[in-house]
Amino acid sequence: MLDKARLDRMITRMRDNTENFLGYPVSKDFDYAELAELLNYPLNNLGDPFVDSTYGVHSNEMERDVVTFFADLFRAKKDSWWGYVTNGGSEGNLYSLYLAREKYPKGIVYYSDSTHYSVRKNIHVLDVESIAIKSQHNGEIDYDDLHQTISTHRNSPVIIVANVGTTMSEAVDDLKQIKAILKDLAIQHYYIHCDAALSGIINAFAKPKPCFDMSDGADSITISGHKFIGSPIPCGVTIVNKANRDRIALAISYTGSLDTTITGSRNGHSPAFLWYTINKMGKEGLQKRVEGCWDTASYAMDEMQKHGIQCWKNKNAITVVFPPQPEEITQKWQLATEESMTHVICMPNVTKEQIDALILDIADHGNKYFPVD
Ligand SMILES: *Cc1c(COP(=O)(O)O)cnc(C)c1O
Repeated sequence: MLDKARLDRMITRMRDNTENFLGYPVSKDFDYAELAELLNYPLNNLGDPFVDSTYGVHSNEMERDVVTFFADLFRAKKDSWWGYVTNGGSEGNLYSLYLAREKYPKGIVYYSDSTHYSVRKNIHVLDVESIAIKSQHNGEIDYDDLHQTISTHRNSPVIIVANVGTTMSEAVDDLKQIKAILKDLAIQHYYIHCDAALSGIINAFAKPKPCFDMSDGADSITISGHKFIGSPIPCGVTIVNKANRDRIALAISYTGSLDTTITGSRNGHSPAFLWYTINKMGKEGLQKRVEGCWDTASYAMDEMQKHGIQCWKNKNAITVVFPPQPEEITQKWQLATEESMTHVICMPNVTKEQIDALILDIADHGNKYFPVD
């Protein structure tokens, strides 16, 4: 017999925990009720989204719409890109680094020490050589250290992982400066991947737009779908140069599709969620969504400063960084903390009332004045 009480308890906990959710970059303002019918089908986007397999219960058309939307948003050159909906940003990073390694098996991966933990793990899985680069105070890669480090390994192809929004402070590594370094050192063979899990969409609408997209020289870009867009199932989108995907493509006669993705069976529901939001909002709606977050973030900055809380944020970021807080507060608001900082991420569902309530909690605990560094 189904343990209904147990299920109910779980659902109640889910509801409560979704309430005060300020520290993780996850949107929870979605309503996919219209897609409920899809739960009745074993959707599986087996293989390559652009090559329909003999398995007919799939959402490949929607997946193609989704990747086309992001290829356009990230200014990929017509007919020269490829992409798919992944299980999340981590898989997108793995896939992109896989393509980079297949292109340059003797390459060295350079990434800043503010990079997401999935990158280090993926480097380990792929068994490629790598060097961590210092990051600046704001989380952005230290260009001098990058220049110096690459210069001592000039014979090896360069694989760059650039952050378009670091996990803690949403810092963006500037492709213009990175490419200038490669040019200065006369590096001929390089691959640039942008980990844009949270902030790719945000920065695509920034004016002036930071240099990070395919037209700016990225060979691949990865975003998470459950972060800025919002999805009940973790997912992501990865856009790559088609030539690099062609290098690894294998025809599989069993499925009738091409084996161009990390997993064989793939989630067919998440492309439908992403498609639904993109189709409903369009580019304009997405832009408004970004602007709303910027507005909340500047509100949070202003209010924290008014209350004497030492806070800062990067340009175009929706993440406001402030000193670590006592456990009651980090537990209540689910704030992620790293040594010297914690942060609130002003996702679309975060309200000014929630920001006010958080600030009151901080003030109540008398933790207003923290030494920075
Ligand atoms: C969230 C995040 C990831 C990982 O994405 P998942 O979707 O959680 O797998 C990678 N890089 C950055 C910068 C992130 O913020």
